[in-house]
Amino acid sequence: MLDLATRAWEAVTGLYLGLRVTILALVRPKNTVKYPIEKVNVSPRWHGLLALPIDPETGSDMCIICFQCERVCPDRCIHIEATGRAKDRVLTRFDIEMDKCCYCGLCVEVCPTEAIVFVPHYEASTFNRSNLLYDLDDLRRATPKEPIAHGVVRIGGR
Ligand code: SF4
Ligand code: SF4
Repeated sequence: MLDLATRAWEAVTGLYLGLRVTILALVRPKNTVKYPIEKVNVSPRWHGLLALPIDPETGSDMCIICFQCERVCPDRCIHIEATGRAKDRVLTRFDIEMDKCCYCGLCVEVCPTEAIVFVPHYEASTFNRSNLLYDLDDLRRATPKEPIAHGVVRIGGR
């Protein structure tokens, strides 16, 4: 008889503890979002897409064509070409194969003029692999070539 009472007590307390966990999970603030309807802000140090931002003072990018980023890239996904000599040198090609990039950040670290930076975009997925080749114009625009998610509600504070 005592054994039966003990078992009944254990069943009731077990049920109570289980329901307590469930109810607490229902009323607590959620840590998940309904992506892609909702998105969270990423850290300022996030390694998203790479970009060559335009300098607002000069109206052009800040690249001095030193080739250091191309040399340091472990995946050999940066391709730079230029014409002219010394101060007259101009970029004719600056391509990054984002499908090969491992987002290590070495190119950003080595750049002496902060001409190449990470931007917070992470939605670069595409059905066409050629869309992952970012040329000079794409890198200056600093946005994904084929954004997948539309009509997004951005929620702040995260
Ligand atoms: S983040 Fe790394 S792998 Fe990607 S382009 Fe820069 S150096 Fe290359
Ligand atoms: S390291 Fe910077 S300045 Fe040098 S080529 Fe790369 S982006 Fe241009």
